Amino acid sequence: MMMKTKRYVSSRFNAQSHTEDGGMILYNSYTGAIASFGEQEQHAVKDALKQGGVEMEMLAGNKLYQELVEHGFLVPEQTDELRRAAFLHQSMYRTDLMHLVLLVTEACNFRCHYCYEDFPRGRMTDETIQGLKAYIEQKANTLGELAISWHGGEPLLVPHIIEELSHSFMDSAERHGVNYSAEMSTNGYYITEELFPKLLNWKINRFMITLDGPEDVHNVRRGLNGGRGTYSTIVNNLMNMKKVDADFEVNIRVNFDNSNLEAVSAFIPTLRDLFADDHRFKMYFRPVGCMGGENDLHLPVCDERTKDEMIWAFNREAIRQGLAISSAITDILMPTAAICYAAKPSSLVVGSNGQLYKCSVAIHEDFNQVGTLDSDGMAHLDYDKIAYWTTSGEEQDEKCQACFFRPACQGNHCPLYRMRTGNRPCSYEKRQIKKTLQAIWEYARAAEQA
Ligand code: SF4
Ligand code: SF4
Repeated sequence: MMMKTKRYVSSRFNAQSHTEDGGMILYNSYTGAIASFGEQEQHAVKDALKQGGVEMEMLAGNKLYQELVEHGFLVPEQTDELRRAAFLHQSMYRTDLMHLVLLVTEACNFRCHYCYEDFPRGRMTDETIQGLKAYIEQKANTLGELAISWHGGEPLLVPHIIEELSHSFMDSAERHGVNYSAEMSTNGYYITEELFPKLLNWKINRFMITLDGPEDVHNVRRGLNGGRGTYSTIVNNLMNMKKVDADFEVNIRVNFDNSNLEAVSAFIPTLRDLFADDHRFKMYFRPVGCMGGENDLHLPVCDERTKDEMIWAFNREAIRQGLAISSAITDILMPTAAICYAAKPSSLVVGSNGQLYKCSVAIHEDFNQVGTLDSDGMAHLDYDKIAYWTTSGEEQDEKCQACFFRPACQGNHCPLYRMRTGNRPCSYEKRQIKKTLQAIWEYARAAEQA
């Protein structure tokens, strides 16, 4: 039912922060818009966002108010924003999207001290490889987008499997007019000068590679199976990647806990020397968490306050040093972008033996073993288990329904965390939204000045 708009009011999905120079930052999680306002303008913005809102007549000729409407910060007063959010949730059920997380091997050459994996199986079986090719070929004519995350274990222990599957997927995608994209989480040890151009040819152009501090600290935390250090090989590989003139992105993940906080601070100037001149390399500081590994009880994880504080302290220092921050931080603020793949009906994790999961962490949990893939491409799925993963967020949680971040997260940032703890899985970005917005603003300003 259409009603004539008489007044515009502040969106329930707005969040505010302030800039260092006294300005204001405004964000809306339904549109993903972020805007900053100088000291003068912000008074008018704050007035417009007050409870009474803005009369329709005041909009005419007022460019600032019009922009607030255009970006969704002001909405017609009769707008049912909760219904909008529920409608957005329905986009999760699009059947023309598919995202597969492929555990091409469950083995790893590293033994990171905080790792939750126990390497139960090795490389992907031939039956699973055939099954995946057939599965994608069967599905491709109904798809508009196919996204692959190469995962492990360490996926680059088996580049020949990635090559074989990539060619098959790209071929199916091309013949059926499907947009194909791929990313990889790798420890970076095997991305040699020879291999990297091949990965790009296989359309893998987004990487997550971890460096946990200066060489001595990284080597203790992320040694090879057998104990030898890995830092110099990874950095050498990253430097060779830098020389390649191509469009790709590497998120340099730096994991921190109580034992390396100072080392990470001291490491930022080294990161600057390595990467400040190339913003394809982006910094991603994350706290180590207990993910169910056998070493969990001994991990010196930070308390929640320290995690919330240090992520933004490291990010701000990195920005000051001229480094780029991870696109994961800016992307997560977009509508539906904070939702984990485990909660999406269009996503599956495929184990190396054809076991299908929703979450890539809880692979030993029965409730996460949601099906199997046959060598002929038939997926046998347990829809009750899948429903458990895809409907446990905002549908069940009134606090999530009322949350300003709902359109981005839908209560589903980490369904496993909710299942294991009973608590809401709010992301670090949402928990510290003011600091997140400040970091994004500082980064944008630094980029403008560069
Ligand atoms: S449910 Fe949580 S632990 Fe599992 S893949 Fe998603 S974010 Fe990771
Ligand atoms: S999990 Fe947290 S951030 Fe996500 S919708 Fe619920 S309350 Fe909001």
